Amino acid sequence: MVNLIIFGAPGSGKGTYASRLKERLNVEVIATGDLFREMIKLDTPLGRKVKEYVEKGLLVPDDITLEVLKENLAKIPKGKGFILDGYPRTIWQAQSLEEIAKIDAVIHLVVPDWIIIKRLSSRRICQNCGAIYNLIFLKPKRDMICDKCGGPLYQRSDDTAEVIKKRIEVYEKQTQPLLNYYRGKGVPFVEAKCEKLETPPEVVVEEILKGLKKLNIA
Ligand code: ADP
Ligand code: ZN
Repeated sequence: MVNLIIFGAPGSGKGTYASRLKERLNVEVIATGDLFREMIKLDTPLGRKVKEYVEKGLLVPDDITLEVLKENLAKIPKGKGFILDGYPRTIWQAQSLEEIAKIDAVIHLVVPDWIIIKRLSSRRICQNCGAIYNLIFLKPKRDMICDKCGGPLYQRSDDTAEVIKKRIEVYEKQTQPLLNYYRGKGVPFVEAKCEKLETPPEVVVEEILKGLKKLNIA
C-alpha cells in the first residue's frame, strides 16, 4: 500500500499523470479540484460557496477543503493506497493531513511556465468521464468527443487567460512553499521534468514509476 501526493503548478499535468498512475499502482486518486467541480455542478449550498472561489482562481477555504478530503479518504477500501491530486495546497492543509495519513513520497512535476500556459489554454475535459485532452498535442480522435466514452468535451471555466494567471500566482505564493515543508520533514521526492510540449504522458509516467522503484516504494 502506498500513499502519494502529486505536486505541481496548475497545468503541470497532475490529473493526467495521476489517472494513469492509478491503474499502474492500484491506488485511488482523490482530486480536490474534481470534487469541487462536481459539487458546483450539483449546485448544493456548499457547491455555490465553493464556486465563488474556484471561478476566481482562489483557494477554497481550508476548513471546507479538509472536510471534503476526509469524506473521500474514508471511502477508500482498507488496505488500498491513494494519490492526492491538488491537496495539500497550504501549510495548514499539510499539517492537517499529517494527523490523518502517512505520506510515503511526493511526486513533484517540474514544468516550465510557457508549457503550462499553452496546456491550460488548450485543455479540454470529458463531461462524462473526466478524461483530459489537449487540442495541441493530446487530441481526441474525433473532434470534441471523448475517445474513451464518447462523451462531449468542454473547457473548464477557470481555464481562461485571466484566471490562469491568478491560479499560477496563488500557486507560487501559497502552495510552492510546501515543497520546502516536505523536504524539511524528510519525505522522499520523485522529480519528473517535462520540457517539451509534445512529450507523451506515458513517458513521464514511466519516469515517475522508475523514481518510485528507486525509492523502493512501488
Ligand atoms: P489546477 O491545479 O489546474 O489549478 P485543480 O482542479 O486542482 O486545478 O483545482 C481547481 C480549483 O479548485 C483551484 O483553483 C481551487 O480554487 C480549488 N482547489 C482545488 N484543490 C484545492 C485545495 N486543496 N485547497 C483549496 N482550493 C482548492
Ligand atoms: Zn469520457
